[in-house]
Amino acid sequence: MNPTELYRCWVEVSFNALRGNLAWIRGRVGRRAKILAVVKADAYGHGLPQIAGALMQGGVDIFGVATLGEALGVRAVGAGWPILLLGSSLPAEIEATVRHNIMPTISSLDEARRFQREAARQKKSLPVHVKVDTGMGRLGFWHEEAVAPIRRIAAMPNLRLEGIYTHFPSAEDDVAFSLEQVERFRRVLHQLAAPHPSATMRHQPPMRIPLRHAENSAGLLSVREGRPRLGRLFNVVRPGLAYWSCQPTLPSVAGLQPTLSFKSRVILVKRITAGCSISYGRTFVADRPMRVAIVGAGYGDGYSRALSNRAQVLIRGRRCRVLGRVTMDQTIVDVSEPVFRDLLVGEEVVLLGAQGREAITATEVAAWEETIPWEVLTSITKRVPRVYIGATSA
Ligand SMILES: *Cc1c(COP(=O)(O)O)cnc(C)c1O
Repeated sequence: MNPTELYRCWVEVSFNALRGNLAWIRGRVGRRAKILAVVKADAYGHGLPQIAGALMQGGVDIFGVATLGEALGVRAVGAGWPILLLGSSLPAEIEATVRHNIMPTISSLDEARRFQREAARQKKSLPVHVKVDTGMGRLGFWHEEAVAPIRRIAAMPNLRLEGIYTHFPSAEDDVAFSLEQVERFRRVLHQLAAPHPSATMRHQPPMRIPLRHAENSAGLLSVREGRPRLGRLFNVVRPGLAYWSCQPTLPSVAGLQPTLSFKSRVILVKRITAGCSISYGRTFVADRPMRVAIVGAGYGDGYSRALSNRAQVLIRGRRCRVLGRVTMDQTIVDVSEPVFRDLLVGEEVVLLGAQGREAITATEVAAWEETIPWEVLTSITKRVPRVYIGATSA
């Protein structure tokens, strides 16, 4: 028996697609660049251990995560990979971060001092990345004030300044602003490479930070396009979404394939009469006799309530509209067309993904929800089993 027959809804992850997307990213950035694979939020809902394992086999160089818990999740899959914490660290997290040799992102001198103190106590040299705020307005030292604190961090005896990076807030739709950010970042690097301004520190060699990065998926797909010089400035790329191949607003990129499908099953088929209302709030009222299918997924599974009366699903390779409000565990769809006359309980329903010649992308679901594909993927809840298809290595 196919094990998914027991599931009312489930996620399928294609390792073949993931492998292809990783090869595409590698081809795009070349052999010499390092790939920092962002696997935060349970690898964007795909399942952290499985995706981290596949990416380790696929040859990524560094992992990026949001939390210490996620970092330890990557560690548990395979020893030895460098892991960068993309968020700031709470004081209470510092001891374990140093103990497990997780690289923190440093955005303040206070943070740097806390890590220095703990690394000294544990008699370690801790690799760290500093972040420069060139326009995201979130983490990092503001670029105009970044040089002095970064020099002080570089002089801390138990910290090893391994990387420096920044982040694009609008890479997908404002390349001009992203390029301005690149210039701000370049100026910081340039000043750091100049001799130390203080006479007593002149003996310090000019600072060269080994790893420099900025590009998230949109940056990699748009900002880098046609600008080979960028590949000399940034020797690490930091994509997340590109692995799953859902472009935010960019046209779909040939060579990247969706990795995730969100599927469900028909749990009941029934006829309703004209005037019958459907679901909570009675927001849909049938104006004629209809046949409807009750589908075994709802907002408790991460099929958002914002999809009520707007989304479509695929059954037998055809689009069917969602009727009325999505409920916690079920969603009602229109199957009045003649092809569904013999529709059976248990038939597969695709909420996101391909079926026959039709496909619903995360970008399309996001548009119905008035959100972004990142949120669609990361909203699929723990209740939904993840099923992995294909081999992790060629
Ligand atoms: C999430 C994240 C990324 C990856 O972004 P995508 O848009 O998914 O490619 C890169 N860098 C940082 C700092 C992030 O937080």
